[in-house]
Amino acid sequence: MIQLEHVSKRFETGKQTVEAVKDVSLHIEKGTIAGIIGFSGAGKSTLARCVNLLERPTEGRVIVGGSELTALSGRQLREKRKKIGMIFQHFNLFASRTVYGNVAYPLRGSGRSKKEIEDKVKPLLELVGLSDKADAYPSQLSGGQKQRVAIARALASDPEVLLSDEATSALDVSVQAQIIGLLKRLKEERELTYLFISHNLSVVRYISDRIGVMYLGNMVEVAETDEIFSDPRHPYTIALLSSIPTTDPDSLTKERIILEGNIPSPIKPPSGCKFHTRCFMACDKCKVVPPTLTEVKPGHFVACHFAEQQKVDAEGNYLFDVKVATNQRKE
Ligand code: SF4
Repeated sequence: MIQLEHVSKRFETGKQTVEAVKDVSLHIEKGTIAGIIGFSGAGKSTLARCVNLLERPTEGRVIVGGSELTALSGRQLREKRKKIGMIFQHFNLFASRTVYGNVAYPLRGSGRSKKEIEDKVKPLLELVGLSDKADAYPSQLSGGQKQRVAIARALASDPEVLLSDEATSALDVSVQAQIIGLLKRLKEERELTYLFISHNLSVVRYISDRIGVMYLGNMVEVAETDEIFSDPRHPYTIALLSSIPTTDPDSLTKERIILEGNIPSPIKPPSGCKFHTRCFMACDKCKVVPPTLTEVKPGHFVACHFAEQQKVDAEGNYLFDVKVATNQRKE
């Protein structure tokens, strides 16, 4: 349903160039959810905005539902965009419009009569549990209710794809769970395809079928959700996962791995592997040679020179030890 082929996005700021997304390829099957994780500055939001061409990629092709968006004319693109809904962290509702007015907004100019718009909006409000708030204004709603309005509005033009950019991040935990539950239910009922961006690993784990991990504009690991959590191969993924609190004695990384240093500037990213300045496994080769995203197991792709190293012994015991790995690399 969504296919990104070697997508890059560069921003020119004066004499400087920021490479926000670098050569990302991704395939998301219809009716599935792809989660993208990584800390801020990873390029997650820019990648989402490249899918509906709110940001036009500097290089690469974007194909949604069989149409190559990057090859469409302005008018064709506007039509196609109606099939791609988007929800954000800050809801982006019109303060001067009621809940009903906000949800009906995308239907303006669609040639529908007032009655037809009403027949469309009312079931959507019911779907998101806000039938009794139709006449309320955004200022009268809680954060969870505002996000429900945003979801109903995104569904008004019957999208096939929903891009969710930190849509649950501003909500408290219990409301977050309700919105995630709603998104999952909508996916099943409407056969939607999601690109789900979040820095919250637990949320992404719960909702996603597949996960991509981004660092400084690069996709560094992609695999099925269970595979990422049971056999992470990229050191950045291993460090990210180690930050999730666990009481599981079999957890792969029992100790939290604190990455050294700050995230480098995307204006002047490190040479070779962009992660080498913070990687606990880095060696001289990493400073010079950028790793390519390679399939190390069926459907499991990793961009690391050491991704194929065996990490589990014949009995299934995890062999990885951060301190040993660090010492070995320094020898
Ligand atoms: Fe670390 Fe080297 Fe792998 Fe990059 S290529 S993640 S620096 S071990």
